[in-house]
Amino acid sequence: MKVLKFDRKGMGKWLARLGEKGNVYVPASSKEGKTAIGWRKLESAEMPPVSPGVPARPVKNFLLPQPEVLFRFSTRPGKEDSFIPREPEPGQVDNIIFGVRPCDARSIMLNAMPYENDPYYQARMEHNIIIGLTCGEPCSTCFCSWTGGSPMGTDGCDLSVTELEGAFMARAITRRGEKLLEEAAGIAVEADHDAVEGLEKMSATAVAGAGSGTAPERALRERDLMELYNAPFWQDLAERCINCGACTFLCPTCYCFDIQDETLHGKGRRIRYQDSCMFPLFTLHASGHNPRGQKVQRVRNRFMHKLKYFPDRFGPLSCVGCGRCVRDCPVNIDIREVMGKLLAL
Ligand code: SF4
Ligand code: SF4
Repeated sequence: MKVLKFDRKGMGKWLARLGEKGNVYVPASSKEGKTAIGWRKLESAEMPPVSPGVPARPVKNFLLPQPEVLFRFSTRPGKEDSFIPREPEPGQVDNIIFGVRPCDARSIMLNAMPYENDPYYQARMEHNIIIGLTCGEPCSTCFCSWTGGSPMGTDGCDLSVTELEGAFMARAITRRGEKLLEEAAGIAVEADHDAVEGLEKMSATAVAGAGSGTAPERALRERDLMELYNAPFWQDLAERCINCGACTFLCPTCYCFDIQDETLHGKGRRIRYQDSCMFPLFTLHASGHNPRGQKVQRVRNRFMHKLKYFPDRFGPLSCVGCGRCVRDCPVNIDIREVMGKLLAL
């Protein structure tokens, strides 16, 4: 394993150099220790402050932007191109996103499963290069190891960076990552044997820890959750939930959308928005029928989708244990407690 070692200043210089290849984004926290709100474009040669845990906004916003223009059209009567869809040209500039935590990076891979045949998502995957940042200090709301991930995980990353004894160790995961490391010539040095050994030890310990933590994931797969479809527990949960949708918009693995057409002055565009299964309108049919018209049905669906329907269809749970929904639910609904309840019933 080839590992490059950067000091803090060198890391800043390298990120600035990568800025010549694309837009470099970093977590937007003003100082270390404070949760980042989202992502900001890097404007100078600086190593951004690194806060523990994930930024408030997930990395999915780069792949499922709000809104995303699917195509444009003209509505001028008599014009040759009237109502002929014109797809936007895919962007030529890459985004290079630094500081993506392993849970968020893994969500990109999970979302690619339902979007396998979606040309827009696939094009964005090609134009977003992910530099992961492993977690030495998981937060109290983090539980990636319960859901098949690890604080040292590299799924979904092109390159993975680990902070070790004041230095930053970077290893390429994909060919794209290797190319980015080639830009570090004269800035980073090849890590010595001790540093590589330290990194391998950290990975092994994290994976072993994750192994014991995957018990909830395994147990959930073995449990027939459909048996609990009508359990009174869902009603208790629904009484607490205010259906604000915060959990779904902040969740990196919630990927539902709505499509709308907008027209103005003879020009139109079809746009895709992130949407939330917590809202009654989400499933309202044109006939007026709503298969999930009651809150209890929507709350149950959110958890069943993550813990039962998605795994049945694709394999893994549709939760990466980032803890955002735990941190930001206004009524303190905690998916870890829901998992525990489902296993105990
Ligand atoms: S954030 Fe909490 S209250 Fe809001 S919809 Fe989600 S579970 Fe319900
Ligand atoms: S369900 Fe909650 S903990 Fe799981 S990925 Fe979504 S926001 Fe993170």
